[in-house]
Amino acid sequence: MKKTIGILLATALAASAAFAQTGELNLYSARHYATDEALYNNFTKATGIMINRVDSDDAGILARLKAEGTASPADVILLVDAARLYRGEADGLFQPIQSKVLSDAIPANLRSTPAADGGISWFGLSTRARVIVYNKIKVKREDVDTYEKLGDPKNKGKLCIRSGSHPYNLSLFGAVAQHLGDAAAEAWLKGVVANLARPPKGGDTDQINAVASGECEIGVTNSYYLARMMRSGKPEDVAATNKVGVVFPNQQSWGTHLNIAGGAVARNAKNRDNAIKFLEYLASADAQNYFANGNNEWPAAKGLAIDNPALKAMTGNKPFKTETIPISAVGANVTKVQQMLDRVGFP
Ligand code: FE
Repeated sequence: MKKTIGILLATALAASAAFAQTGELNLYSARHYATDEALYNNFTKATGIMINRVDSDDAGILARLKAEGTASPADVILLVDAARLYRGEADGLFQPIQSKVLSDAIPANLRSTPAADGGISWFGLSTRARVIVYNKIKVKREDVDTYEKLGDPKNKGKLCIRSGSHPYNLSLFGAVAQHLGDAAAEAWLKGVVANLARPPKGGDTDQINAVASGECEIGVTNSYYLARMMRSGKPEDVAATNKVGVVFPNQQSWGTHLNIAGGAVARNAKNRDNAIKFLEYLASADAQNYFANGNNEWPAAKGLAIDNPALKAMTGNKPFKTETIPISAVGANVTKVQQMLDRVGFP
């Protein structure tokens, strides 16, 4: 395992005496990007606070926090989906904090609903768009320029999408329910199921490849998977992206659905002050550039732009309209959406 100054990569941390020392921070992270290492090193250099990191995915981290209970050594949690952040909050795994730095930097719609005392349970730290990709030869752009059209009968048999129950889709569908209302959202989901080219399988990258190979004509993906392929060193990845068009949906209506990666202070954090300091650092201009750009995302903090060639190419180097609903409402809709998926038979 590669050792980096200031970072101890640990996969099986237990509550040990070391964690109680000052000048440390125990981070549970669902992010696995090489650029994050530099980010954590910079924090340690600036503050002297050492970071011990546990890597898992969103579900694994939430399960682990529950299992550890009050004995959990976790101080800071980084997750990569709004619905999962909402779940962590609802399950009491985070503690609300008050930070002027974070509240000034992160737009209100990209953080949790404030508690009665103004405390915020989690903050978005980067944003990713859920976009539509399509076969440029077979599909007209105007037939896929909204999420609603994914359920239009004219697109029957054309659509590839990962499992409806995957958090990225639950969050998208939760947003659609927020925008259209429940009845219309469920009718739309029925239409989406009717349009599937094949039962859902694979991740977002697989849907892009399926559109490029001709297996389907329309796909749905988070923006960073497409950007990653565009910047890939593999010629076949770049060739695939050249075959697909990309749409940032709903530019004429409520805007493209944005999901977030974000952070929270753990309920039982022993190093609470360090945890807040770390989240504040992640919202700084410097850190935002690493945090977002490292995974081809956009900064969540206000007023920042990043210089990412793939994202520029994807958007035509123009700003796009994003939804403005509170991302916490999306998380709150997820249980309801899961029931809709069961009723319409969304695999
Ligand atoms: Fe992802």
